[in-house]
Amino acid sequence: MGFLGNKPHAVCIPYPAQGHINPMLKLAKLLHHKGFHITFVHTEFNNQRLLRSRGPDALDGLPSFRFETIPDGLPPSEADATQDIPSLCQATSKLCLPHFRKLLSTLNGRDLTGDVPPVSCVVSDGVMSFTLDAAEEIGVPEVLFWTTSACGLMGYLHCQGLMDRGYSPLKDVTYLTNGYLDTVIDWIPQMKNITLKYLPSFLRTTDPADGMLEFINRETSRATRASAILLNTFYDLEHEVLDGFKSMLPPVHPIGPLQYLMDDLPESDLKMIGSNLWKEDQECLHWLDSKEPSSAVYVNFGSITVVTVEQMVEFAWGLANSNQTFLWVIRPDLVSGESAILPAGFVDATRGRSLLPSWCPQEKVLSHPAVGGFLTHCGWNSTLESICAGVPVICWPFFAEQQTNCWYNCREWSIGSEIDSNVKRDEVEVLVRELMVGEKGKEMKRRVMAWKKKAYAAAVGPTGSSYLSLESLVNHVLLQPR
Ligand code: UDP
Repeated sequence: MGFLGNKPHAVCIPYPAQGHINPMLKLAKLLHHKGFHITFVHTEFNNQRLLRSRGPDALDGLPSFRFETIPDGLPPSEADATQDIPSLCQATSKLCLPHFRKLLSTLNGRDLTGDVPPVSCVVSDGVMSFTLDAAEEIGVPEVLFWTTSACGLMGYLHCQGLMDRGYSPLKDVTYLTNGYLDTVIDWIPQMKNITLKYLPSFLRTTDPADGMLEFINRETSRATRASAILLNTFYDLEHEVLDGFKSMLPPVHPIGPLQYLMDDLPESDLKMIGSNLWKEDQECLHWLDSKEPSSAVYVNFGSITVVTVEQMVEFAWGLANSNQTFLWVIRPDLVSGESAILPAGFVDATRGRSLLPSWCPQEKVLSHPAVGGFLTHCGWNSTLESICAGVPVICWPFFAEQQTNCWYNCREWSIGSEIDSNVKRDEVEVLVRELMVGEKGKEMKRRVMAWKKKAYAAAVGPTGSSYLSLESLVNHVLLQPR
């Protein structure tokens, strides 16, 4: 079924976590600007959270940009915290298809009323591949948007191979510390000299019972059924890996950084549609206004990372002892099993040069002139947002493909340095100072500014590689009948 004579209608469905919703919403806005009717699908759980964080009109949308919900398959919860990722992956992949199928059928039923065109394509998160079945049933093309880096996706595509060769699961826990993780993996041609430590974290387990490896292997193998794969990256940054996908995946469209592509959008109501699941603290922007250019370190570990009390204390004293100004976002659920309590004396020791909000408008913070460095968990959105803002990083990867992003930040792109996973205050102090006032920090700043320029050139048309890649996606995939 095509959409001949009708407005095209894209159903956009992100995986229900912050780092997936944000880039999908950007893409949905771009498609809307290109003339698509958009249905954006949240889970009921996140819908409730958005209403709480952004207010009752958060999901009003526009006549041609609407929100719908489906259940996520987990038991109901009132919590304002990130859901357990392995459980959420199991629930979405096993239980969401009937709900999604029903939603598509309802949307197509509404066609009769004339204000919603028939669904003409599905834009689904890469790890929501159950949606492929529903798109195939109604005969429309589906593209899978992997919200990872290209290098992260390459790591995931090799998980099965690493298991087949006996690298994972680990034989016992001693393999986590006996040097085994430094084993060089020399048979992934696009990732020369990478070690086991920097491939997807799910491999470094002795007990794959949480199902994450199985989940990843299932999702990557189903990716071949998509009409195209989308990545929020740009060709110059990851060209070796992107070229490597040619024999492994359907056509891959690098369409990032999406935030730069969005620069082209006119000021409209759509810009007001946001996706933050936590309430943003706007005060921090005013606080930054009072600081000197490039004088503040921004510290944020994203929406999923949890730290132990000991790690929190080491970061706190490392930041305090660095004598630098810092903005440290401490989510209410950042410390595992506890409320986030800072060590005694820390607030006094850093008075006047620290601010500790619980959530912030990150892209605005990163592009504030006062921010000179970013201590990050290396989530892909954070990494790319830092490149777009021209801010060098210190990496403390937590899980998933964040270790791979860290490896590329530090070794390939030379925009970052790494803190040992067993974080110690002295290392934090030294690396923060080096980032903010040292020679290495200056070199990383030069490098990240060069990447920022390339990112901008890729995104901004009419010759940019990502700009053209999005054009081709729309014209040759999304606007074509299956
Ligand atoms: N973010 C934000 N405010 C915060 C923390 C995070 O707006 O205080 C946004 C950030 O800009 C990014 C996303 O949340 O777009 C986090 O995605 P990322 O891939 O970096 O990490 P994840 O949360 O998936 O681990």
